[in-house]
Amino acid sequence: MKTNLLDLDAKRLTDWFAEMGEKPFRARQVLRWVHRSGEADFDAMSDLALSLRSKLKNVACVQAPKVMREEHSEDGTRKWLLDVGTGNAVETVFIPETDRGTLCVSTQAGCSLDCAFCSTGKQGFNRNLSTAEIIGQLWWANREVGKDADGNWPITNVVLMGMGEPLLNFDNTVSALHLMLDDNAYGLSRRRVTVSTSGIVPAMDRLRDECPVALAVSLHAPNDDLRNVLVPVNQKYPLRELMAACQRYLEKAPRDFVTFEYVMLEGVNDSAKDARELIALVRDVPCKFNLIPFNPFPQAPYKRSSSEAVRRFRDTLMQADIVTTTRRVRGDDIAAACGQLAGQVQDKSKRTYRLQEIRA
Ligand code: SAH
Ligand code: SF4
Repeated sequence: MKTNLLDLDAKRLTDWFAEMGEKPFRARQVLRWVHRSGEADFDAMSDLALSLRSKLKNVACVQAPKVMREEHSEDGTRKWLLDVGTGNAVETVFIPETDRGTLCVSTQAGCSLDCAFCSTGKQGFNRNLSTAEIIGQLWWANREVGKDADGNWPITNVVLMGMGEPLLNFDNTVSALHLMLDDNAYGLSRRRVTVSTSGIVPAMDRLRDECPVALAVSLHAPNDDLRNVLVPVNQKYPLRELMAACQRYLEKAPRDFVTFEYVMLEGVNDSAKDARELIALVRDVPCKFNLIPFNPFPQAPYKRSSSEAVRRFRDTLMQADIVTTTRRVRGDDIAAACGQLAGQVQDKSKRTYRLQEIRA
């Protein structure tokens, strides 16, 4: 089988070329062609010797996941459903803004963590995505949207907030992160690449040591009793440990704050008392809050908090000097908003979840 070069970060590509008896600068050249130029055709890699080009054609390929469907939202958001084999699909979402372009990337087909308010969690876990499947989302979306008038790729920021828990697919995620940061590949700044986690404490420490990037933590509740229900992995890594892990992370992080994501669920976690408890909880962690209006999906057991409740909650946090933003709902007409990402997943018992178009 051919080696998919999207699977190899700089170090692995250098090792791979060394095994073929090629010098390290070849890896650099190929990295630049594949990721900086978005090239998949070895014949076009004009500074490689002809003999190397034909060798590469025999043993290697550049293969992003196949696109099954594309949707455009009225607000410019684009969503691609990607085939990752054996009945599995994941989604990637491009969100254009005036000063940047953000790609929301998936790291697993499904998710094992079963958060109560998340449609990905409701599907169960199918499998980890490979490095090629993770970085392939960026490679492909850049090519698809195309360079701007100044010759720059459209994607300036990446958030690992699509389907799956990135820190439970650690090695493949970190290889993909290395490529995002590598100057010979995408050259994104660490501050513009964000890993979002539900709070896998030991993996947060590993990420800090191996590849510190901006960190978002899905908090969603001000105490363990409620968080145990909303984010069941809290039973394993309770809030006290999670807060300590955030503090440790900040010792090496590219930003001097953690972003706490907080999904606003009517009557569940959106009261004045919840806000006050939250302020006490995060007292020792430099942080910002991002309030996410809940995005409903079929059979969801929750409702979105009213805009008035969200505004009051935000004001309470702001009065305690915590910078708080409310996430604008983007792409919900194509079910591309947070937590609506579904795809089509087969679980281990072979039941097929045919994931219907989910409309907010
Ligand atoms: N597994 C990681 C990253 C993917 S989820 C994590 O949990 O952080 C990305 C974000 O979307 C998380 O903050 C998650 O809590 C949020 N989310 C999930 N379902 C949602 C929904 N139905 N409405 C709004 N946000 C949701
Ligand atoms: Fe998994 Fe994140 Fe959804 Fe929880 S919110 S089920 S961790 S994808």
